[in-house]
Amino acid sequence: MKAAVVRAFGEPLVIEERPDPVPGPGQVRVRVEASGLCHTDIHAAHGDWPVKPSPPFVPGHEGVGLVEELGEGVTHLSIGQRVAVPWLGRACGRCEHCLSGWETLCEQQINTGYGCDGGYAEKMLAWADFAQPVPDGVTPFDAAPLTCAGVTTYKALKVADVRPAQLVAVSGVGGLGHLAVQYAKIAGATVAAVDVTDDKLELARELGADIVIDARKEDVGATLKQHGGAHAAIALAVDEAAFAAANAGLRRGGKLVMVALPAHGTVPVPIFDTVLNGTSVIGSIVGTRQDLAEVFQLHAAGRTKVIYETRPLETVNDSIHAVLHGQVKARIVFDLGAGR
Ligand code: NAD
Ligand code: ZN
Ligand code: ZN
Repeated sequence: MKAAVVRAFGEPLVIEERPDPVPGPGQVRVRVEASGLCHTDIHAAHGDWPVKPSPPFVPGHEGVGLVEELGEGVTHLSIGQRVAVPWLGRACGRCEHCLSGWETLCEQQINTGYGCDGGYAEKMLAWADFAQPVPDGVTPFDAAPLTCAGVTTYKALKVADVRPAQLVAVSGVGGLGHLAVQYAKIAGATVAAVDVTDDKLELARELGADIVIDARKEDVGATLKQHGGAHAAIALAVDEAAFAAANAGLRRGGKLVMVALPAHGTVPVPIFDTVLNGTSVIGSIVGTRQDLAEVFQLHAAGRTKVIYETRPLETVNDSIHAVLHGQVKARIVFDLGAGR
């Protein structure tokens, strides 16, 4: 099988032929149909974060495909069933986080495309208990971006406890942001979308944003304040300055939800303003299996639209370049050609 492999941080990925992986107990092998390129995969390939993967590894945590082999003990999935393999590859199922519905905080978790090989491949392994069945009527190409970009932003809006009549700022309308705009609208909020490219601002408008703010030309914090200030600002831009700008645009009692993960990122949070204005800073990491089930359910009901372009896996290095230079409308999804 073909896979795109990170051999060393910061080097181009290499397309390799590898033997098909063999599922162990509790695992399944998936013949990948579609695999999204999340900006996290770029951080992984660059070794951007304090906790690093170990090259060689196959990135990708938006892999969607058909189960083709069941490991020992797997009874609830069947051959030919379509599943999505998210970032949360597995969690322990026994710790306080797992038992309280916060499996995404499990300290024993293994992350797909980071702690084990991921979806930039024709075949991949998944732990059956964490492989999410994809409902009929959701295509693999739509399911792929929903598997990380979708579930992550859906969860970010949940932790912000967004309600109708609130103003939500979505900072960064990329893969994650284009779905965040839609979930905020579904929650009934007024949405202010912030980006630095004309295409993304136009896309935000098409997807229902009420206000668009061009961070190249406008003071984001001041503009949000002119609209009364944001009840929640969802920070999705890979840029520290954008976090500070979003924080400055909160209204009293507002919440900054940190989602993007710029390398070595730190943000100055002014103590006086935070205390006097009663604002919060919250970190939000992907979402649970239940969150992903809800994301798929909303999509199957026709309530969200996934914007993507398909490319062959061989374009992986050019595709990464395109994401880094803002030349992608929302998401790139690799077409692995399963079933053809
Ligand atoms: P992306 O590259 O598709 O989108 C980023 C967007 O931010 C682009 O549209 C870009 O034009 C815009 N942008 C850049 N500078 C900006 C600025 N100053 N102000 C406003 N917008 C600006 O990336 P993505 O795949 O959506 O991922 C975004 C980030 O989220 C990455 O750091 C990724 O690692 C992280 N992420 C976090 C989680 C989590 O669970 N916390 C999950 C997935 C991704
Ligand atoms: Zn656990
Ligand atoms: Zn991701």
